[in-house]
Amino acid sequence: MAPQYDAIVVGAGFGGMGAGIELDRLGLSNFLILEREDDLGGTWHVNHYPGLAVDIASVTYSYSFEPNPYWSRLFAPGSELKKYAEHVADKYDLRRRMRFDTTVGGARWDEERRHWVVSVQNGESLTARYLMAATGFLSQPYTPPFPGIDTFAGKIIHTTAWEDDFDLTGTRAAIIGTGATAVQLIPEVAEKARALTVFQRTPIWVVPKIDAPIPPAVQHLFARVPLTQKAARLVNTAALEALMVVGVLHFKQAKPLNKAAGILAKAHLRTQVRDKETREKLTPDYDFGCKRPTFSNLYFKTFNEPHVRLETNSIDRIEPDGIVTADGRKTEIDTLILATGFNLWDVNFPAIEIIGRDGRNLGKFWRDNRFQAYEGITVPKFPNFISLNSPYSYSGLSYFTTIEAQMKHMARLFGEMFRRGEQVFEVTEHANAEFLDRVTDRLGSSVFYGGQCSSARSYYFNQHGEAALLRPTSTLNAHREAVTFPLDDYTYGVESA
Ligand code: NAP
Repeated sequence: MAPQYDAIVVGAGFGGMGAGIELDRLGLSNFLILEREDDLGGTWHVNHYPGLAVDIASVTYSYSFEPNPYWSRLFAPGSELKKYAEHVADKYDLRRRMRFDTTVGGARWDEERRHWVVSVQNGESLTARYLMAATGFLSQPYTPPFPGIDTFAGKIIHTTAWEDDFDLTGTRAAIIGTGATAVQLIPEVAEKARALTVFQRTPIWVVPKIDAPIPPAVQHLFARVPLTQKAARLVNTAALEALMVVGVLHFKQAKPLNKAAGILAKAHLRTQVRDKETREKLTPDYDFGCKRPTFSNLYFKTFNEPHVRLETNSIDRIEPDGIVTADGRKTEIDTLILATGFNLWDVNFPAIEIIGRDGRNLGKFWRDNRFQAYEGITVPKFPNFISLNSPYSYSGLSYFTTIEAQMKHMARLFGEMFRRGEQVFEVTEHANAEFLDRVTDRLGSSVFYGGQCSSARSYYFNQHGEAALLRPTSTLNAHREAVTFPLDDYTYGVESA
């Protein structure tokens, strides 16, 4: 019996939309994109806290084949990303194949029928020849289990569930967390709140943000002569690449560059924060790049404000009217903002239960045998399964470089399978093991293993202490491999390896 769909894509963010566009190009147009949220855009739909903006320049943070000449700033605000996602969905006719408010519980490979059976939480079962997981990396919000949090009598708000009509004016607010989200949000909250206490566990490296509006004349130039925007993209991407490849991945060989980034961030802090003790508290004691650094011209300055306080004592418990720290002091608040990020390694890899050939459970396999995926996209014993948010898949600093490398990988893989007149593919154990050895070896030179990262508490590391998120190659190399990987790294047809 033929399956209902050519493919089911889980997730309607930029990754899932990229997969959809590639499926159309491959002639597999009968696909469905299932989305847990009530609209498309992934991260850019879920997040709409004040201050949200991209932290990779917009010329680079977009599909190369669908440039947007009309970004209002070098670093566009979140609402423009959401609009861009809507534009892409409409232009590539993806919307009619999306189903919202649809939570996928799991998926199971049916060996006999050679298709995937996808279970939706409303009890429905759907079948598809191919399954694509595009559930993102930062899609499972994390709330730490602070004792007493349930007793808090005021307003609690996680940054992923921002209520746009919630007025912070005159509140006594606390923000827990000092990651990239908090860095954007803190100056905005400080503007409205009567008192703001920021609870920091680990300081973050922050460098200046070279941001400015893009004048209409430049926008029109980008629209009229797309080559100009392409050139801007190339320059910006090359700079990011140098930072990533030289400063982070080749840390051992190029320590001075990494150190220079740290010096820049410290100088930024010195010029922005007056109080020495606060500056010391805001200075990381781990190497630059161990966790994702961020850009801001406003964050540090906020701590000069008389009504803003940085608290570095650890949180002991939450009471109905405040937060008690380990030194026994209580900070009285009425609004508790959780900028506590996401859980990647316990619940996100994979975000749904996926059972492959011979009953192999992907989550269990990864946890018991190291996190791994061939070229960051396929896994042995999971035929016809494309995992877009895999260990070792994230290459470069802009997520779009990863998405587009994966689209190219899909094109080469499916092209070969069709050429052979087959419908089933599976990566070989050998190719997968060889890729894992290769990335493990390369990571040896990176800041993650060569630097001082033990105090960073970075989500780049998994629960086994492995830096298994980023693909340790240049994006050029990732793209080259996507179009040149050995075709016999896969088996095609019924007799899967
Ligand atoms: P995050 O980087 O994981 O930060 C979470 C924060 O919560 C950290 O400061 C963490 O402290 C703190 N925290 C967690 N549990 C805690 C506990 N039990 N007690 C005290 N503090 C606790 O999350 P995020 O800020 O949401 O950013 C995640 C990623 O999203 C970023 O790295 C970036 O890639 C992306 N992002 C991008 C943009 C953009 O492009 N515009 C904006 C925002 C976010 P520890 O560090 O000590 O664990």
